[in-house]
Amino acid sequence: MSTYGQLVTDAVRELSSLEYSDAALEAKELMGAVLRLDCRCVEFSDKLWQEADDSSEQQYYELCKRRMSGEPLQYILGEWDFCGITFKLGEGVLIPRLDTETLVDAAIKLFGDRSGMEIIDLCAGTGCIGLVLEKKLDNVSLTLVEKYADAMQYLLENKLRLGSSARVVKGDVCDEKLPPQQPKADLIVCNPPYLTAKDMKAMQPEVSFEPVEALYGGEDGLDFYRTVIRLWKDSLKDGGAMLFEIGAAQADEVMQMLIQHGFRDVRSRKDLCGNDRMVIGWKKED
Ligand code: GLN
Repeated sequence: MSTYGQLVTDAVRELSSLEYSDAALEAKELMGAVLRLDCRCVEFSDKLWQEADDSSEQQYYELCKRRMSGEPLQYILGEWDFCGITFKLGEGVLIPRLDTETLVDAAIKLFGDRSGMEIIDLCAGTGCIGLVLEKKLDNVSLTLVEKYADAMQYLLENKLRLGSSARVVKGDVCDEKLPPQQPKADLIVCNPPYLTAKDMKAMQPEVSFEPVEALYGGEDGLDFYRTVIRLWKDSLKDGGAMLFEIGAAQADEVMQMLIQHGFRDVRSRKDLCGNDRMVIGWKKED
């Protein structure tokens, strides 16, 4: 017989062999899922001293096995925190990443004192960007656009759980009929697929579990920026902003595209790792 703590220690040893993992954290998170306890809370630490029952041990073993096969921790847990809010997720939707919090932080800094903004989140996935902005900014009218049914299922669940009043549109952001049907926005945010053909070949095993449709942005990774800027710039109000997440090597090209389409004050911004992670441009008439 082992205690829950011993099971966690054994799992840390196993999970350490995975290249991209924080074994100690993941072993605890997975045990938290079995015990239905937040692994950061005191009850969880107390529980680690108790003898594990057979069914929990079996369940833990199964979850560790899935993780050992490369499946991302977030899919196994079925939820993940983004900007301090828990989002439901699973296979078929992009996992919210810490890098993406860069966009949300920037938007809150820029628009924190505004009220009644019209915001559109394109390629919304779990809805994490738009839904956090709706929560953190005052009186936002939010539209979430998502193409894929698997992602849509999580988006709707998250919207419901957060008590959001967002409009949800099932559609392709590259469909030119879509923008004219949407309200004119003060802010359009978009985390499109932007990995290049080369990135797709070199990606870490965990990422290969995520939907290719949410990752691959064409040969040079820039397909969505080209189309979204062209099709959606007229959906911005005068003075509105378009804010993209970008890959680390894409800032110059995406900034150039925005400038060519008449955007002003075009800037990039780095994430916490020091990589260029977002670009913003403003639509301003003379
Ligand atoms: N940032 C993601 C990654 O590095 C890519 C997500 C995206 O294409 N928007 O895997």
